[in-house]
Amino acid sequence: ALEATKLHKAYNNIEVLGSVNLTVNSGEVVSVIGPSGSGKTTLIRLLNGLEQLDNGEIHLNGNPFLQRLHYGPDKSRFIEHPEHRNNIGMVFQSFNLFPHLNVLHNLMLAPNYHHMGDKETLKLQAYQLLDKVGMLEHAWKHPHQLSGGQQQRVAIARALMMRPQIMLFDEPTSALDPEKVNEVLQVIEDLSKEGITMVIVTHEMNFAFKVSDRIIFMEQGRVICDDTPQVLRNGDSTRVTTFLKDVN
Ligand code: ATP
Repeated sequence: ALEATKLHKAYNNIEVLGSVNLTVNSGEVVSVIGPSGSGKTTLIRLLNGLEQLDNGEIHLNGNPFLQRLHYGPDKSRFIEHPEHRNNIGMVFQSFNLFPHLNVLHNLMLAPNYHHMGDKETLKLQAYQLLDKVGMLEHAWKHPHQLSGGQQQRVAIARALMMRPQIMLFDEPTSALDPEKVNEVLQVIEDLSKEGITMVIVTHEMNFAFKVSDRIIFMEQGRVICDDTPQVLRNGDSTRVTTFLKDVN
């Protein structure tokens, strides 16, 4: 499980996250929704250590991963336990593939660097994952030869190469042309059925309600609701109901 406790984050003294708690159990799919600027992206970047916590801590399977340690008055330090970093996979809005490497080498770079297997084993694993995301025939292409949807499917396969315990998706389809959105959502939905633990920040409400075990609704840096899709849809939170009506 991933357990985040009392996460605080401010930029230039403006609070962006105020005491956010979040638990994601093994095998769970959790979507994070909410209005623009509510802190969704900040939250998911904190979970991965891409931003430093101002306060709070994150545990992975009971082990501290990221924390802000306080010692003495007004003194604190952000601590990362980097050995857990590879347990978390991240998929970005803007794909972030290595432009100078072909698809296969994009997948093999990190696991090779971390000695996760010999080259032939990793290559076989890469082919299997590319097949899973429907990109096997593009293994030798470079990112610029692919559509956005194809690049994002490669990025998902690349994250899976590290065999992470949890996958984080930061608005994975918001940079895509509308007709490419579904091919990426389909891949994520397939993964959700395989029991892969996932946190997905998304503006795709139908998708979120279809694949999630739990949905977290954020507003102004706080978690307003954290419940099953059924409860959220039929719930009595006026704020959530209004939001859902506005985006649909
Ligand atoms: P969206 O749905 O539009 O992507 P979001 O819910 O993901 O929004 P965040 O991107 O987390 O929201 O931003 C939350 C707030 O923090 C916003 O007001 C944003 O302007 C601010 N913010 C985010 N990153 C930074 C930064 N690096 N420096 C300063 N302010 C930032």
